[in-house]
Amino acid sequence: MRAAAPSAIREVRSPNGPIVFKVRNAVMNILFMGPPGAGKGTQAERIVDEFDIPHISTGDAFRLASKQGTALGLKAKEYVDQGLLVPDEITNGIVKARLALDDCKKGFLLDGFPRTLQQAEALDVMLTELGHSIDHVVDLKIDRGLLLARLTGRRICKTCGSSYHVIFNPSKVEGICDKDGGELYQRPDDTAEKVGTRLDEYSSKTAPLLDYYSSKGLLREVDGEKDIDVVTSDIVSCLKGTL
Ligand code: ADP
Ligand code: ADP
Repeated sequence: MRAAAPSAIREVRSPNGPIVFKVRNAVMNILFMGPPGAGKGTQAERIVDEFDIPHISTGDAFRLASKQGTALGLKAKEYVDQGLLVPDEITNGIVKARLALDDCKKGFLLDGFPRTLQQAEALDVMLTELGHSIDHVVDLKIDRGLLLARLTGRRICKTCGSSYHVIFNPSKVEGICDKDGGELYQRPDDTAEKVGTRLDEYSSKTAPLLDYYSSKGLLREVDGEKDIDVVTSDIVSCLKGTL
């Protein structure tokens, strides 16, 4: 059973006395970090549902643009197919346009962005311009040795992008998405060869961001090795400030 969504109202005790104020607390701006296969996409699907905020995945955006054959999609595909990070200027532009949409005023969950220090700094500028700030950076912690099995067994819905695993999180009917009946496929970058490159990209370019967010007091570490439901409830507790 998943925990209930937090109330839009929270109680704050005045520092000068026993009066309790009730204040609006509806906006939740979250970043999900963690290596490929840590469970970001799986948990993001559940957390956006819980908090009723949009899910912004740069990986999904690149896969969609590449499927649609746009110039940006074809350019990004050159990097995605090799397991390399797409250049910052392409990636930042997509996120900036998406964050400016109205639905992000109620909060957002950024999954897989930022992945370089330059992206993190660009994000700070974008958020300042839009009058937003980051509330929590959730880092899904997992031993590198577990990631190959997670990624090579991953299957994705062609229609909605939902993530399954042939052993750890199978769909009810093999090869078919539980949510919309879409066909499940294996991402071409989820092969053993590409996974090595992606993990190296993570270690050299993305892992240093953990210090960046830790020094700002925003980092929340969650054990990503537990069962999917347990990880979800740990994240919810952490976002509500009780973990
Ligand atoms: P990411 O978005 O971080 O790359 P995913 O959420 O797509 O990761 O998860 C990678 C794979 O591992 C998927 O096949 C998913 O079903 C599976 N998975 C996710 N979380 C867990 C977990 N806690 N335990 C076991 N398998 C998991
Ligand atoms: P993962 O399962 O590795 O977390 P994603 O779906 O988030 O996968 O990303 C897939 C690919 O899309 C990455 O390997 C990379 O090529 C590209 N990509 C996604 N997000 C970014 C980003 N923030 N910066 C650069 N490239 C990105």
